[in-house]
Amino acid sequence: MPTWVLHTEFTFDAAHQIDGYDGKCARLHGHTYKVHIKAKSHKLNPSKYLKSDDMVCDFRELKWAAKDGPKGGLDHTFLNESIPVATTAERIAEYIHKETSNRIPDGIDLHVTVWETENSWVEYTDKDV
Ligand SMILES: [Zn+2]
Repeated sequence: MPTWVLHTEFTFDAAHQIDGYDGKCARLHGHTYKVHIKAKSHKLNPSKYLKSDDMVCDFRELKWAAKDGPKGGLDHTFLNESIPVATTAERIAEYIHKETSNRIPDGIDLHVTVWETENSWVEYTDKDV
């Protein structure tokens, strides 16, 4: 079966605090989050910017979270205010997965990896692999 796998990476800077955490992560602090998104599809689709069926999806749509907060992204935001879930790396990955899914055509398998630090990251997908 023909298969295309897109990969993209970006970073965003954001502040957060983990409410209810018994330790220093409960206090306000920041990270440069790195995000890797993998998008796998067995067919090609049109996009907002290309009407013919020649893309899995637009890289721009995968990178929405890198945009500045006032433009709808997560860069330079206080995550506890900009996302409606707990701000653990696990929940941030799940949130980015869900929001990205809403921006791209159906039938694309997404894997989202979020690095909170250089040495600590989490992968999220909504299917067993
Ligand atoms: Zn943190």
